[in-house]
Amino acid sequence: MDAAAIRRSLERSRLRCTPQRYALMAFLMQCNRHPTAAEIYEAVNRLDPRSSRATVYNNLRDLVRAGLVREVAVEGRAAQFDAKGMRHHHFICDRCGNVEDIAWYDVPRPASRAIGKRVLREWELIFRGLCMKCAPRRASRFNGA
Ligand SMILES: [Zn+2]
Ligand SMILES: [Zn+2]
Repeated sequence: MDAAAIRRSLERSRLRCTPQRYALMAFLMQCNRHPTAAEIYEAVNRLDPRSSRATVYNNLRDLVRAGLVREVAVEGRAAQFDAKGMRHHHFICDRCGNVEDIAWYDVPRPASRAIGKRVLREWELIFRGLCMKCAPRRASRFNGA
């Protein structure tokens, strides 16, 4: 996504395109990991030391609420964020807590009795287990292969 696209997506979400919000979106979109709020603050601050921690955290919260940034909650660890436009699922490693993207595929809509009167915006999967770094080398032996 280029500069104009960032500006448009902020405006579509009725968020003013401040230099701080722009910097946050630009950083998150080129980031190929899922940084924590503290890591985002550090990175944005390195580029533009005028943003206070509170400003960065408030902007991050606004972007999450607007649906432009996704927050992935990891139990017992700081939440991690991503702003990649493409829909994707997530894999969370039990051991190192790393959050990885899994290519998108359609998931059936949940049964309406499970949703009740809630208004569903989107749904996605979280896979859990051991990432490739943490998985035992000869895991295939235990998978019944
Ligand atoms: Zn791992
Ligand atoms: Zn992701």
